[in-house]
Amino acid sequence: MAGFEITDNLYFEDGKFLMIAGPCAVEGREQVVETAKHMKRTGVHVLRGGAFKPRTSPDSFQGLGEEGLKLLAEAREETGLPVVTEVMDVEHVNLVSKYADILQVGSRNSQNFSLLRKLGKADKPVLLKRGFGNTIEEFINSARYVSLAGNNRILLVERGIRTFEPSTRFTLDIGSVPVLQEKTDFPVIVDPSHPAGVARYVGPLALSSIAAGADGLMIEVHPEPEKALSDANQQLNFQQFTDLMGKIRKALPVFDKEYL
Ligand code: PEP
Ligand code: MN
Repeated sequence: MAGFEITDNLYFEDGKFLMIAGPCAVEGREQVVETAKHMKRTGVHVLRGGAFKPRTSPDSFQGLGEEGLKLLAEAREETGLPVVTEVMDVEHVNLVSKYADILQVGSRNSQNFSLLRKLGKADKPVLLKRGFGNTIEEFINSARYVSLAGNNRILLVERGIRTFEPSTRFTLDIGSVPVLQEKTDFPVIVDPSHPAGVARYVGPLALSSIAAGADGLMIEVHPEPEKALSDANQQLNFQQFTDLMGKIRKALPVFDKEYL
């Protein structure tokens, strides 16, 4: 894998392990700043948080929009952590780029080719999630839309696919980790939160991702998950996240990875 600068002071290269964590959605100043501080304390590299949320139901909380972006920028001011947030629409690329350090493409937009092309022209790294109905080959082609348009700073995220198995929210395709690493030159991050669907499965999926050789993890954390406006069941509280981070740090050297 080729190394690249994710943001100032954050250079990613082979053998290193990147930790991205934070709430599913930005819900308010206290929620996001409090979470950012806890992320900083535990050594997380990048704060995540959605401002524009791609919700399956139009009745669900859609995110705070630009207000959420401003709160993310405040959380960065407070902690120094770079932030990643989703850009759902071609029309929002410039707006989201004004605030975010890394631009996220969600699973539902993974084959939005005009969005991908536009992000290929952005001067920010792109965190590209796998479409839950996409094969690995299709996922790689989505990444190629970004790189062929000129942006090679891409983080691939395996976040589970839809299968016949309903016991978990999505089926984490753990095999995609070595396959993507063999077939691309991009870091492969695993999001264990969305395939787990419930907090108690997040740890096992996170740790098995490390064993599979993942270059990083992206985990949802909320100060009070039971009150979260989206993905309440799967977000870890601070104590659960701290405990998992302890296990992650122990597991990494076993699998020849160094915490970045
Ligand atoms: C998210 O990361 O909050 C998200 C919406 O994930 P996905 O696009 O993978 O469903
Ligand atoms: Mn979520």
